[in-house]
Amino acid sequence: MNSAILHNGQVITAREYNTDVHGTRLFCIDKSCKVPVIFVPGNENVSPYFKTTGKHDSKHNEGCGFYKPLTFVESVKKVEEYQGDLLDKGMKETLVRINLNKLDPDYESKVAEREQSDKKKQDPSEVKIKQDNETPSSISSLKSIVKLMVSYEPDVLSSILVNVKGQKVPISSLIVDQEKAHNLLWKEEMLPKVGYFVYGVVDAILRRERVIYINFKPVNNVLFSLMVFDRYFKHFTYTDEELMGKNILAWGHLSKNTYNDKNTTEMAIKSDKYIEFLK
Ligand SMILES: [Zn+2]
Repeated sequence: MNSAILHNGQVITAREYNTDVHGTRLFCIDKSCKVPVIFVPGNENVSPYFKTTGKHDSKHNEGCGFYKPLTFVESVKKVEEYQGDLLDKGMKETLVRINLNKLDPDYESKVAEREQSDKKKQDPSEVKIKQDNETPSSISSLKSIVKLMVSYEPDVLSSILVNVKGQKVPISSLIVDQEKAHNLLWKEEMLPKVGYFVYGVVDAILRRERVIYINFKPVNNVLFSLMVFDRYFKHFTYTDEELMGKNILAWGHLSKNTYNDKNTTEMAIKSDKYIEFLK
């Protein structure tokens, strides 16, 4: 753990922690847990951190975000919870840039000529890890956002804000399930002109002449579909077998539709790169 709660309810990171100033009453940041933790000083190889001792009450409970490694969805939910609870209680902020322009085949063809002379080719899917607790400074693929969410502890992830058109928003506000995406859109609470990461399970695939619909399994009667229009068919190679029943993360801009008097939420995607499979 990189963060703990002090006796006064404020969050402290292990790097900022000073016994003389902050005292020795330290607790797990998860509100369902809040067990005592101890400070472990760092050395030249390892950053300082907090941990449970395993003795007496100092064990994370099963619902705690530090009890076991989290899946992508578990991690997203815990980060949302912690960002809601702790961002105004002294949680350190880390700014991460998300730029997914390179997913877009239209964008790719526009810049392809310019980039041909540029020899420094970087792998956009690579998450660069500088130090143990330091998150990458930019995200440029779905693979890297999934890797981010399953590679770091939830307190480190909870420090992440994303710069969206000049506004700094908690990363958890951009990664949502289809029900939340739907509510944000239809209640006009969405960040304007911003792409969202939406996860769900593929329930049906309808291949029409001009469009492919990929329907997520409804959650609380919320209907959500991905759409691939015909001009992008050549960039979309997944077969029905590869998609059906799979838990996926998709990225794009949300749009409203009404079908049989029912409000639905849609997201147009343009290629394979707009989807990442979740475990
Ligand atoms: Zn805990």
